[in-house]
Amino acid sequence: MKYIGAHVSISGGLEKSVSRAYRLGATAFSLFVNNHLRWCHKPLTVSTVDNFRNSCKRYKYLSSQILPHSSYLINLGHPNKEMRKKSCQAFMQEIYRCYELGLTMINIHPGSSLRQITEKKCLENISSSINMILNKTKRVIIVLENTAGQGSNVGYCFEHLAFIIKKIEDKSRIGICLDICHLFVSGYQLNDMKNFLYTFKQFNSLIGFKYLLGIHMNDSKGSFNSRLDRHHNLGCGKIKKHVFSRIVQMLELQEIPIILETKDSSLWKNEILWLKKQSLLCSFSILDA
Ligand SMILES: [Zn+2]
Ligand SMILES: [Zn+2]
Repeated sequence: MKYIGAHVSISGGLEKSVSRAYRLGATAFSLFVNNHLRWCHKPLTVSTVDNFRNSCKRYKYLSSQILPHSSYLINLGHPNKEMRKKSCQAFMQEIYRCYELGLTMINIHPGSSLRQITEKKCLENISSSINMILNKTKRVIIVLENTAGQGSNVGYCFEHLAFIIKKIEDKSRIGICLDICHLFVSGYQLNDMKNFLYTFKQFNSLIGFKYLLGIHMNDSKGSFNSRLDRHHNLGCGKIKKHVFSRIVQMLELQEIPIILETKDSSLWKNEILWLKKQSLLCSFSILDA
């Protein structure tokens, strides 16, 4: 079973996201658990928590179908200790919100060196931030997203993600979300079958499919290897449309959220329908191919 959906808005209240996903025909969705552009947040009210949990029951979404996205302000690898602490605290608040809402995963961009420290030091900062956060929180799995490698962001290659995972003490609470746009612009070719297979086999040998807990299904405005983080609707950008079919046909991607973060949300309903149909046409295993 493939879980396919989109990153829906929380405007008008967090609980509204659930019915929005349902109206799109989505079997998965993503949301921000707070205002993703601000540091300070009021605690969730009892009624928000109850409404969200009840909506999930009513529309039949399990926590394994929901992959929240954390705030863009957080930088777990920040070169400055105080700023890193601020980021860790903000992220722990988000994790606590997920816990209250009955959610079991949260997706985050690993971090940035801000060109003040080496990438290796930044990756070490990220691992120690995550170890500290996992120690102080419960249940929720931290899901690292591969980045486009724009600016000074780390996490743009499998080696970076593998480096972080290796240093995590509780490996039951760490996972990976692959953003297809980011993958392509950071130098992983997908447009022909040979390179497509090579990319995912590389992923498996360096990280392993057991860690893959989500997919961001985005086409790319930027060219191959451009490191430009500009999402586009499926079939409208530089990634060939059959790539998205192949992804939903991969046997390795069972029961993990496959989320659209494409530009034009008016196309989501059709994109979800198309992906669902593609997923039923055939299937193949990367490991056998
Ligand atoms: Zn993201
Ligand atoms: Zn993404």
